[in-house]
Amino acid sequence: MATDPLRLPTDKIVRPDKDRFLNEENPFEAMMSRFDRAAQLLDLEPGLYKVLRHPEKQIIVSVPVLMDSGEVEVFTGYRVLYNTSRGPAKGGIRFDMQVNLEEVKALAAWMTWKCAVVNLPFGGAKGGVICDPLKMSVGELERLTRRYTSGIIATLGPDSDVPAPDVNTNERVMAWVMDTYSMQARHTVTAVVTGKPIELGGSLGRREATGRGCMFMVLEALKHLGMPVQGTTVAVQGFGNVGSVAADLMAKQGCRIIAISDRTGGYHNKAGIDVPGALDHVKKHRSLEGFTGGDPITNEELLTMPVDVLLPAALENVITSKNASKVQAKIICEGANGPTTAGADSILEEKGIFVIPDILANAGGVTVSYFEWVQDRGGYFWTEDTVNQRLEDIMTRSFQEVLQMSKTHKVNMRTAAYMLSISRVAIVHRLRGIYA
Ligand code: NAD
Repeated sequence: MATDPLRLPTDKIVRPDKDRFLNEENPFEAMMSRFDRAAQLLDLEPGLYKVLRHPEKQIIVSVPVLMDSGEVEVFTGYRVLYNTSRGPAKGGIRFDMQVNLEEVKALAAWMTWKCAVVNLPFGGAKGGVICDPLKMSVGELERLTRRYTSGIIATLGPDSDVPAPDVNTNERVMAWVMDTYSMQARHTVTAVVTGKPIELGGSLGRREATGRGCMFMVLEALKHLGMPVQGTTVAVQGFGNVGSVAADLMAKQGCRIIAISDRTGGYHNKAGIDVPGALDHVKKHRSLEGFTGGDPITNEELLTMPVDVLLPAALENVITSKNASKVQAKIICEGANGPTTAGADSILEEKGIFVIPDILANAGGVTVSYFEWVQDRGGYFWTEDTVNQRLEDIMTRSFQEVLQMSKTHKVNMRTAAYMLSISRVAIVHRLRGIYA
C-alpha cells in the first residue's frame, strides 16, 4: 500500500531535549533549538522534520589567489543552500576570519525562515570565505571574489541562488560577482546578486531598508502594547548601517534615543542623543570615539539600562543567560542576527519582555533585496517612495501575521515567527512531495 512519505504517523521523532544547550553560542544549535520548539508545537510530521533539519546543499571550495607579493595563497570558501522549496536561494556572502561551516549552515537556515516569515518567494542560503579583507589589497579582494564566484558558479543564477553583501562585503564586491557570472553566461545578468550599485541595477532604498524595517517593527510593537511613540526611550547597540538608520528614523518619529554605541564604546544622554550630530561624527571620524553628545558608558551597561526599547544592532550573542535577567527594556527589536542566545529566551519571556525576533525585525533588508531582484528581472525601476511604501506594507503585514500566530498558540513572538515560517516552507514541501 502506498504511504505518504512525509506523513509517517507511527514513526517516532527523536528530537533533542529542548532544554539541552550543548553550547549556547553555537549558532547552528541556537537556530535548531528554536526550530525544534516550533516544529513540536506545529506537530510537524517526522518525514518533513528530518528534511527541514538538513541543509539541501553544502559547497566547500578552495580559492587560490595570486597575492600582490607574487605568492599564491589558498583560501577556503563555503556556500550553503539550506532550502530552495519556495524559490531561489537568497543570502549574503561574508569575508571574515571567523567564517566556518557551522556558522554558514546556521545563517543559511536563518535566511530560509526569514524569507518565509515575510512571505518572499525565496529559499535561504549563505556563503563565506575565511580571509581577513582588511589585510588585503583591492586587487587581491577582486581576484578572491572572482575565483570564489567561479567555484560556486554552478549554483548561482537569478532562478537558483542570489547572493547579497554581508560582513565585510559591499556593493563593489557584488559588482565583481555579477560581472564574473555575466562573463560566463556571455550576457549581462544583473539579477544574479542584490545589493549592487544603483548604476548596475541596484534598488533605491536598499541601504536604509533594514533600519527602516526595524523602525516599522518598533512602531507596530508600541501600538500593540498601547505605548505612545512620542518620548519612547530607545537604546541602540551598534551605530552602523542598521543601528544608525534605525536610530535616525525612530528619532524622526518622536522617540528619544538615549543611548548609542559602537565597537569603541557607548554614550548616554537622558535628554536624547543628537542623532544627526552622531551621524556627522561617524562620517568624520569613522566611529563614535570622542563623541561629546553624551556620557561614556560600556556596551554592557547599554544593554541593561532602563529604556522602553532596546535595539541590538551589532553582534550576535550579546544577550545571554548571564545578563538577560538584568535587561530592563520593555521591547527588544533584534536588528542584528542572533543577538539573543537560545538560553536567554526563556529568561526574557519570564520577565515579560516583548521580543521582536531577528528573522522578522531585520527582514527589511532582504525584502528590498527581493524588490531589487524583481526590478532587475522586469527591467523597470521604482521610485524610492514606492520601495519604502511596499516595504512598510510587507513588514507591518508580517508583524500582524506573527502576532496573530503568537495569540492563537499562546507563544512568544520568536516561536510564532518560526512557526509561521516553518509552516510556510512545510506546506510547499507537502504540495511538491518528494522527488524520487
Ligand atoms: P555595520 O558593520 O554597518 O555596523 C556594525 C556596527 O556594530 C558598527 O557600528 C560597529 O562599530 C558596531 N560593533 C561592532 N562590534 C561591536 C561591539 N563589540 N560592541 C558594540 N558595537 C559593535 O553592520 P550592519 O550592516 O549594521 O549589521 C549589524 C547587524 O545587523 C549584523 O548582525 C548583521 O548581520 C545584521 N543585519 C544587517 C542587515 C543589513 O542590511 N545591513 C540585514 C540583516 C541583518
